[in-house]
Amino acid sequence: MKSPMKKYRLLVYLIFFYSLMTGQERKLNNKIALSSIPGYKTLKCDFHMHTVFSDGHVWPTFRVREAQHDGLDVIAITDHIDYEGYPDEIKNDRERAFEIAQEEAQKYDVLLIKGAEISPRVPPFHNNALFLEDLNNLPYGYMKDTHHKFIMKDDIKKRDLMAPFLEVKKQGGFVIYNHPTHMPNYDWDKAGSKDLFTPFHEELLDMGILGGVEVVNSTRYNSMAHRIAEKYNLTMFANSDAHHDIASGYKDSHRPMTLVFAKSKSADAVEEAIRDGRTMLYYNNLLIGRIREAEPFFKNAVSLNSKKVIYKGSPMLEVQITNKTDATFDLKFSSGYVIQNLPLQMDHLKSQGKLSILIGPIWDYPDKIDLSMNVDNILISPENTLTTNFVISI
Ligand SMILES: [Zn+2]
Ligand SMILES: [Zn+2]
Repeated sequence: MKSPMKKYRLLVYLIFFYSLMTGQERKLNNKIALSSIPGYKTLKCDFHMHTVFSDGHVWPTFRVREAQHDGLDVIAITDHIDYEGYPDEIKNDRERAFEIAQEEAQKYDVLLIKGAEISPRVPPFHNNALFLEDLNNLPYGYMKDTHHKFIMKDDIKKRDLMAPFLEVKKQGGFVIYNHPTHMPNYDWDKAGSKDLFTPFHEELLDMGILGGVEVVNSTRYNSMAHRIAEKYNLTMFANSDAHHDIASGYKDSHRPMTLVFAKSKSADAVEEAIRDGRTMLYYNNLLIGRIREAEPFFKNAVSLNSKKVIYKGSPMLEVQITNKTDATFDLKFSSGYVIQNLPLQMDHLKSQGKLSILIGPIWDYPDKIDLSMNVDNILISPENTLTTNFVISI
């Protein structure tokens, strides 16, 4: 028989391993700590997901519970207006998914935005509309059969394709071009060019209807979409486009998130931020944003402390860099001096971690030193990563 002491020790081990396991879980999914930019709150958002009210496989309340679990602040359920997955079981009322989810969202701290996906397989292809008033008013006259099928009319009129977008404009909505890609079975030839940004998109842009583009969709970063965002100055989004449960799709990472820098957690503040392009994308330890947001976001994520030290007989400056967030950063340093402890001048800053660099020798200390950091996992364009400068007073 085991002694009580041994049993006690076993219990301690079990608690220790259990806390390790749950700690890991928490880091992956729950309340990921990220930095903000001055004057704004960082809202973690996912603006693209489906339920059984179109071609998804979960009930709307489940999307809210998942969002709560993943520490999201804001979600939009965006069922296809032009596809019904269960026409015999579920009455075609496009407001219902929102109503059901809204009741659940109010119990939690999740803000629900009313939205829908308009998804013809000809230009302008799939687009999400957000901040809508009445989803049942969106026409889909380009469809022949939506009952557990997706069959478009043979002779589709341009005005039928434009009609839902004009309705979105009437309702004051905001349109995001979803996952721009050359997909099989989609009529790219009829687009008039092989360009993913078609004349139809140009028209939507000119009419002030189109304002955003999905640069990350589910597990994919799309450099072509990133270029479209730059060229047409569109707000960037990273969304899950979940059709099944989130948990099984993101076992080793967090779901993609659109970080919205908003004045407060309200639908109006989210809309204001989105219309101003104040977003960054967080996906698989990669951050994507414009320099206007990316630079202050990174600067707020880290803190620097320095002290003079003597290392192997030479005067140096030791700089400790602390990561206050759960994001990780791949850093390359330059300072005009040698960084003695990093032969390649680069290191990986773990989430909530610290690293120290030894700058020198500095035989004659100046009043301040410029330390430049290139952050290899923050993209500020399809080709460039963030470089920013810190001034260290001595
Ligand atoms: Zn779908
Ligand atoms: Zn889609």
